[in-house]
Amino acid sequence: MECLFCKMIEREIEPDVVFEDEHVLAFNDINPQAPTHVLIIPKKHISTLNDIGSDDLTLVGRLQHTAAQLAKKFGFAEDGYRIVMNCNDHGGQSVYHIHMHLMGGRRFSWPAG
Ligand code: 5GP
Ligand code: ZN
Repeated sequence: MECLFCKMIEREIEPDVVFEDEHVLAFNDINPQAPTHVLIIPKKHISTLNDIGSDDLTLVGRLQHTAAQLAKKFGFAEDGYRIVMNCNDHGGQSVYHIHMHLMGGRRFSWPAG
């Protein structure tokens, strides 16, 4: 298996898990860009946002719901937070298994660079 995040799901590599259920895994990013920086991934391998199929819509909703639940758990839901999903080269995607970045604990600027 070549995919880094699939290896984490299979525990060939041990992630720093903050949430896990049947469909979703969330773990701390190794190179955090905020006081809290969590990656939320589906357990199903989907390479890019372009590869989300009509059968995956509930799964994508689970990622978003997990992000909001974790924001509440970490205590920054009311202050606010930033969600990012990068797609392909111009989007800055470096791991080709879709993931939602949940970042909180500081203020973010907009527009982003
Ligand atoms: P992307 O650039 O694809 O949107 O985000 C990939 C993210 O994965 C980056 O924020 C990067 O820091 C994170 N990452 C890369 N390798 C590892 C790793 O081995 N462990 C963890 N926890 N995060 C990783
Ligand atoms: Zn994968």
